Amino acid sequence: MIEEMKIWIVFTVFLAAACSQKTFDGDQVLRAHAKDNAQLDVLRELEAMEHLQVDFWRGPSRPNLPVDIRVPNAVLQQVKVFLESNSIDYSIMIEDVQTLLDEERSDMKIGRAMENARSTDTFNYATYHTFDQINNFIDTLVAENPGLVSKIVIGRSYEGRPLNVLKFSTGANRPAFWIDTGIHSREWVTQASGLWFAKKIVTDYGRDASLTSTLNKIDILLEIVTNPDGYVYTHTRDRMWRKTRSPNSGSTCIGTDPNRNWDAGFGGAGSSSNPCSETYRGRAAHSEPEVKAIVDFVKSHGNIKGFVSIHSYSQMLLYPYGYTSAPAKDAAELNSVSRAAVTALTSLYGTQYTYGSIITTIYQASGGTVDWTYNQGIKYSYTFELRDTGRYGFALPSNQIIPTAQETWLALTKLIEHTRDNPY
Ligand SMILES: [Zn+2]
Repeated sequence: MIEEMKIWIVFTVFLAAACSQKTFDGDQVLRAHAKDNAQLDVLRELEAMEHLQVDFWRGPSRPNLPVDIRVPNAVLQQVKVFLESNSIDYSIMIEDVQTLLDEERSDMKIGRAMENARSTDTFNYATYHTFDQINNFIDTLVAENPGLVSKIVIGRSYEGRPLNVLKFSTGANRPAFWIDTGIHSREWVTQASGLWFAKKIVTDYGRDASLTSTLNKIDILLEIVTNPDGYVYTHTRDRMWRKTRSPNSGSTCIGTDPNRNWDAGFGGAGSSSNPCSETYRGRAAHSEPEVKAIVDFVKSHGNIKGFVSIHSYSQMLLYPYGYTSAPAKDAAELNSVSRAAVTALTSLYGTQYTYGSIITTIYQASGGTVDWTYNQGIKYSYTFELRDTGRYGFALPSNQIIPTAQETWLALTKLIEHTRDNPY
């Protein structure tokens, strides 16, 4: 009996080690301020030093935009000395990443205890959820609203998980407005906002005049967990995982950046050919099944008129292009619609947003989602970077989920209304 116990204990310890979560004890997020392009280049050198395992939360872009870097505790002094010796100013944004993640985890436990997930009325929108919980929510919402909501499985992830899209529709053969959240798995406030949007739509239909008129003319399509393998991985192994989970031949590094994998300037500047990079574009355009499923769906649908892909963080509303500095044909219209959307967003809690084309507002990025959708003829293509501006970054406390979703919905409503009222 004692021997059996010993074997069991050894086995359990082994299992715990093999499946353990990555910890971020003593990791800090540093905010570097590059004064000029030469200092930006120095930061890009730092990014390329793979042995340091630094994780750029906001990459080097232009001198006036901050660069946020999660630095593992083991190399903290080394990186600080590197920045100082290159005269790069920096401040500490997050003293200890693990402390924030411990709070997030304990909030999730409390939040789940308060929840009765058998109804979407008692679902707890103010906490983060696992992939399985989100799928249960989706099935419950569909069961509760059979005439309004259906689930479409547009494909499977690399690891075989369903790619679920909610379709809100009151009639056949309508044009559609697409929203996706969570294509970068660690941007948890986006998937959480997606759940809130879904409930908001079914609540407002028949009650809110604008949403009712929208759904009497166009469908809304919503993919909440756009990168399911990555999302599961952020819960089980590495909270800071961004990419897909497909292997790369000839490399031990896993995953492709699904927002560099689209056939729009694919392979150009602002994406990496190195499988170990967080912006690795993949071996070919649409190599990732999560991306390919949307490509096939958009093409076969043929009548998607608006497309929004939602990220965090930075508080920005962006439109094409990212891969080229040539302005989009509809730049003036996209700009004025963005201005109206941001004004609506800010009106609720005063959250400040910037807006503009991707390349002029953040940086050059090729192979991005909305550049591809725009080139497919979806004129109203936008991308969001939700809260915050770096105080918490990807570890946004769960008490900000609902306010973030509410204000974002005001902006989304403007984008959807404009699409509804301007058929093309
Ligand atoms: Zn992102």
